[in-house]
Amino acid sequence: MDNFMNEEYNDLFTTTQCPSQQQLLDYVQGRLTPEQQHEVEMHLADCELCSEAVEGLATIKQKEQIPVWLQQMRNQMLRKLRSRKRRKDHVAYYTQLAIIVIVILFILLAAFWAYHFITHRSL
Ligand SMILES: [Zn+2]
Repeated sequence: MDNFMNEEYNDLFTTTQCPSQQQLLDYVQGRLTPEQQHEVEMHLADCELCSEAVEGLATIKQKEQIPVWLQQMRNQMLRKLRSRKRRKDHVAYYTQLAIIVIVILFILLAAFWAYHFITHRSL
């Protein structure tokens, strides 16, 4: 296994100490405190070796998460499809109800207008 914390590498490429592999892993997985994270970020800007290591770790992390991610996506899709279908039924029901109410209102309005017009004319 590569040791990217090599002391010689430190002297060659960086002025600061390289974080441990565990620290870099914690950084990739977002487990560090904001202060620690800032320190690692500062170091990554200076240290090509560590930034490459972090890139590698990030890729590994994503690979590990792919099955979980796919499962989540599938569940999300199914839930969305189910809720969309249910919502569509609701929309159809309320649309019908709204149309019926509007038609009744128009009939009442027409009746009221006709009644008003007739009584007005007879006066
Ligand atoms: Zn480093």
